[in-house]
Amino acid sequence: MRTLLIVMEPKPDIWFEDTAVAFAYKSDAELRKANFIFSMVNHPWVSSLATGFVEFAFKARLPIEGVIRKTAFDHFCGGESIEESEEVIQRLGKYHVGTILDYSVEGEKSEEGFDRTMEEILQNIEKAHHSDHIPFCVFKTTGLASAAILERINSRQTLTEEEARAFKRAGERVDLICRKGDAYGVPILIDAEETWIQDPIDKLADEMMARYNRERAIVFNTYQMYRTDSLDNLLHDYEDALRGNYHVGAKLVRGAYMEKERERAEKLGYTSPIHPDKAATDKAFDDALEFCVAHIDRVSVMCGSHNEVSNSLLCDRMAERNVSPGDTRIWFAQLYGMSDNISFNLAKAGYNVVKYVPYGPVRSVMPYLLRRAQENTSVAGQSSRELRLIRSELQRRKRR
Ligand SMILES: Cc1cc2nc3c(=O)[nH]c(=O)nc-3n(C[C@H](O)[C@H](O)[C@H](O)COP(=O)(O)OP(=O)(O)OC[C@H]3O[C@@H](n4cnc5c(N)ncnc54)[C@H](O)[C@@H]3O)c2cc1C
Repeated sequence: MRTLLIVMEPKPDIWFEDTAVAFAYKSDAELRKANFIFSMVNHPWVSSLATGFVEFAFKARLPIEGVIRKTAFDHFCGGESIEESEEVIQRLGKYHVGTILDYSVEGEKSEEGFDRTMEEILQNIEKAHHSDHIPFCVFKTTGLASAAILERINSRQTLTEEEARAFKRAGERVDLICRKGDAYGVPILIDAEETWIQDPIDKLADEMMARYNRERAIVFNTYQMYRTDSLDNLLHDYEDALRGNYHVGAKLVRGAYMEKERERAEKLGYTSPIHPDKAATDKAFDDALEFCVAHIDRVSVMCGSHNEVSNSLLCDRMAERNVSPGDTRIWFAQLYGMSDNISFNLAKAGYNVVKYVPYGPVRSVMPYLLRRAQENTSVAGQSSRELRLIRSELQRRKRR
């Protein structure tokens, strides 16, 4: 009788509490600055007072850009331009953590603005192609297309001829970016946004996946697992890919617009598209991770999360299915300035890790920074975890 020997991929030991690894790339001064920032956002009333003041100061054109630049901006962003972000790219790269340059200029409304954003993303692809440390590029569709038109399409309204022309141009911008990503071998992530504009974004993403993911996943759509329909959408996309003989690129996130989504649903009287509680979102997220690993031959996945349980679970599922940590079909991603304990400990253990590194003029990046401040106060435990780890590392360095 022949015995079948199954060699399991050993799971590397990962300890997310290893602050020496997590913060090796930060100087003492930078850590003290991080301590200050997270101490501020940790108190809801200080945070809301500070964000309220910053919003007012920017509207009133008070000279506070310098202060923002030296504090929150430096902590959460790479710089004001691609060139300025180079230092951060190199510093992360030294510890095998890749960068995704995230051009964070929001609120473009003109065709010229959309063209400018497209040019910037094309430059990012060029930069990624020549760099060892930039494995992906990313865009938000609202940087390339009018949110108002996306909303009209989403609610099945008929477009005027001019709107139809504008949407066609937006589709051409998206195609140009994905085509260049394909030609340069740089995978492209398409961020997910609010449900009331997301259907046409998903449709564009599906078309791009069918066109460019023939041999491997070049285009990744984003699945917000706080949505009650996301798991079904993922399964449906997988079935389509099987039928069409292409690959699915899936960036899994929980979702960033929960409060906004619920408020709008309540105001307009429709059922909220968001899971009723955190446990249901967590289950959907983890089920989606499992599904992707189980179908890795057809699905490449990026786990975009700061949740230690989900990140650990992905490592476990990979080991169970004998997928090596360095398999390039599986990526872990966090935002720059957050959850370094997850990113750097995973990278040290040999997993593929990337950080979203936002960049752009200070004033334009403000909406992004304000969202980080809100997220860190409203997401239970997030800023207190950051604070605890930063303080523990400061103590450890003092004891050396
Ligand atoms: C690399 C990366 C890329 C990202 N890209 C996108 C993107 O394209 N689009 C996007 O929308 N977001 C994006 N995000 C943000 C993401 O969706 C989450 O807001 C953020 O990461 C927090 O979720 P978590 O898994 O890290 O942590 P956790 O702290 O475990 O989860 C917090 C999240 O759980 C959900 N949640 C919390 N309370 C409840 C509740 N009561 N009921 C139901 N659900 C609840 C919310 O989504 C909340 O943000 C991205 C995040 C990362 C790290």
